Amino acid sequence: MSADAPRDGVTDFVVAIAAKKSDTSISGRDYPQALAVNEPNSDIVVMKFGGTSVAGAEEIKRAARRIVAARERGCRVVAVLSARGKTTDELVAQALEISPRPVEREMDMLLSTGERISCALCAMAIHDMGQEAISLTGSQAGIVTDSFHTRAKIVDVRAERIRETLEQDRIVLVAGFQGMSTESKDVTTLGRGGSDTTAVALAAALGASVCEIYTDVAGIYSADPRIVPGARKLPVASYEEMLEMSASGAKVLQLRSVEYARNNGVRIHCRSSFEDGPGTLVVSEEESEQQTMEQPFVTAVTHSDGEARVTLTGVGDEPGVAGRIFTALADAGINVDVIIQNEPVGEDALADLSFTVDRADLTAAVDTVSELKVSQGVRSDERIGKVSIVGAGMRSHPGVAAKVFEVLGGEGINIEMISTSPIKISCVISADRVPDAVRALHTAFELGADAVKAEDPMGDTHRPTVGS
Ligand code: ASP
Ligand code: MG
Repeated sequence: MSADAPRDGVTDFVVAIAAKKSDTSISGRDYPQALAVNEPNSDIVVMKFGGTSVAGAEEIKRAARRIVAARERGCRVVAVLSARGKTTDELVAQALEISPRPVEREMDMLLSTGERISCALCAMAIHDMGQEAISLTGSQAGIVTDSFHTRAKIVDVRAERIRETLEQDRIVLVAGFQGMSTESKDVTTLGRGGSDTTAVALAAALGASVCEIYTDVAGIYSADPRIVPGARKLPVASYEEMLEMSASGAKVLQLRSVEYARNNGVRIHCRSSFEDGPGTLVVSEEESEQQTMEQPFVTAVTHSDGEARVTLTGVGDEPGVAGRIFTALADAGINVDVIIQNEPVGEDALADLSFTVDRADLTAAVDTVSELKVSQGVRSDERIGKVSIVGAGMRSHPGVAAKVFEVLGGEGINIEMISTSPIKISCVISADRVPDAVRALHTAFELGADAVKAEDPMGDTHRPTVGS
């Protein structure tokens, strides 16, 4: 192994279970508790590297060294790579230079190339380090999807070829974010950020012990460290918390990958590809509770500024109207987030109804509801933001919502819409007040680094890392 090969707690751990050694050889710092892993005896590890982790030649070689180090420790390694740096954005821009509305089938042919480049280059680097590796496209790797171009869903993973290749003692590199529709026999892509889902799906199909997600941040934080410098890196989050966090603006994991992991019991480990640290585990609620020394009732503050609001004024107050509005939006493929409607008090019995959508869907949403002619007017607002607090402990703590509203009121921030789930409270506010709201809530709920015990009082690396 090369001298600068990174130390890797997870693969130590995987080797340890593969060799059925006692717990003493397992890095207790990475895994503080005994583990109920997906497949306890699996020596297969899936390692996913994001775009910044394969951006330049040096980064590709660094990823290759991590992969080789894992192999040399005795793991069988499947690595999933994203496109390099901003490649996908550049490919989208190239398409838009040619066509204002690129044909989706061809868009997928184009976008899927980014990930293939990363894999081929990384395989070359691994060869030079003395290991055997082959790169595979999503379709060669057996990723079967439906036929919805640019947002396909994985429907099956036929992993025989990967298994055979691992048996031949080779490392397998799989191009993330893509698959093939068996129906149309065409290449598909899985939506932006889809390499996370490729990695989790492969981990599930192969019964891997863990799906490691290597990225440019040290893990998942109690808030965006660019807004809250004192944000704390979380040692662990439950699938449910992570789902709410990804859905409300946390960018580290694609929402669908978290859903897939929860449904298949795949343990996710988010960590930095640039430094060694404990990262963040995303696991079941039971395991998450075991691993957290103290369970704060709020885990994180998330935010999003990528939404817009549509308001229908003067909507008739009669049964069936809301059904028509939201069916039309669903048929147009538009995801709706927060919804509010008031019960009319005036003589005219007309209501106002507002909802939020992804900003990219705003024009389509306005067109869709305008065509229905169920309201006197349709307005839109692009200047909205959303701040949310998430925490599994909220279920058993009354008064959390009251505190959120008081904190925002104290900051002079007007709450325009509210939505809740058992473990999340979201408030739609003016976009320019989002950073203030995030900071105020983070402080009020004492989520900072100094508010909780260190994860491991013995280890320097366990100090929360801030920044990037
Ligand atoms: N390259 C794709 C994107 O930028 C997929 C990914 O990185 O996961 O969205
Ligand atoms: Mg990503």
